[in-house]
Amino acid sequence: EDKIPYFEGCLPIEEIARRGQDTLRFGPMKPAGLDDPRTGRWPYAAAQLRQENQRADSYNLVGFQNHMKFGDQARIFRMMPGLRDAEFLRFGQMHRNTYINSPALLEPTLQLKNDSRIFFAGQISGVEGYTESIATGLIAGRNAAALLQGEAPEVFPRETALGSLCHYITHADVDHFQPANITFDLLPALDDEAKRKFRHDKKARHAEVCSRAARAMDRFLNGCAERMHLEVSC
Ligand SMILES: Cc1cc2nc3c(=O)[nH]c(=O)nc-3n(C[C@H](O)[C@H](O)[C@H](O)COP(=O)(O)OP(=O)(O)OC[C@H]3O[C@@H](n4cnc5c(N)ncnc54)[C@H](O)[C@@H]3O)c2cc1C
Repeated sequence: EDKIPYFEGCLPIEEIARRGQDTLRFGPMKPAGLDDPRTGRWPYAAAQLRQENQRADSYNLVGFQNHMKFGDQARIFRMMPGLRDAEFLRFGQMHRNTYINSPALLEPTLQLKNDSRIFFAGQISGVEGYTESIATGLIAGRNAAALLQGEAPEVFPRETALGSLCHYITHADVDHFQPANITFDLLPALDDEAKRKFRHDKKARHAEVCSRAARAMDRFLNGCAERMHLEVSC
């Protein structure tokens, strides 16, 4: 069990707990922003219950994926204030995240290197998350359509989130490839002047990265439109 390579963005709670006494309350049990009306202060830790049905008699304990035996889950979760008498309809389980070694196998167009008619997108390509999966599906779909029409598949600009996501999955370390969500860290750093200008203002730095992405996307789409003799409004 020690050898299971967990995805760091979706760890089982017992693994989070193993890493330190306070790790859960800085992770899925983070109480930030939850003012307790009785004290006006944030609680020590909190569990989020997400309503699962319209009758409002079934709730999901958010972020509590785990590997523990069902009996242990019931015993441990009932220790939480408010859950002492809870009835458990389904216990937590881990899901396996299956993905290919994209840096070794895929082009940034999401085509398989050794058979360019085959495209990969979504979780199996090593992106993580709903939006990331939709985004790579869009790129693979566009490129598959281009290929069918005898046109060259395209690589989205690196300055955009779409381009950086494809860049990451196709350029990461082949021996230690891990799925990734999109984050600002995947995008190229700002130039030195912009870095200096915004060095004390993270929000402004992020805004600059976003407007650089929007400009790059406009140029890219205008280029696509010219190639297709179309007009796009940006
Ligand atoms: C418990 C859980 C919670 C999550 N929470 C979040 C969240 O809050 N936010 C977020 O952004 N992401 C979340 N994710 C991740 C997100 O669900 C995935 O990244 C995303 O759904 C992947 O989309 P996909 O289309 O690539 O793959 P999937 O959604 O896995 O779709 C693949 C589809 O292919 C089908 N399939 C498989 N094999 C075959 C076959 N041989 N023939 C035909 N069909 C086949 C499957 O049945 C499935 O319908 C969560 C994942 C899990 C498991």
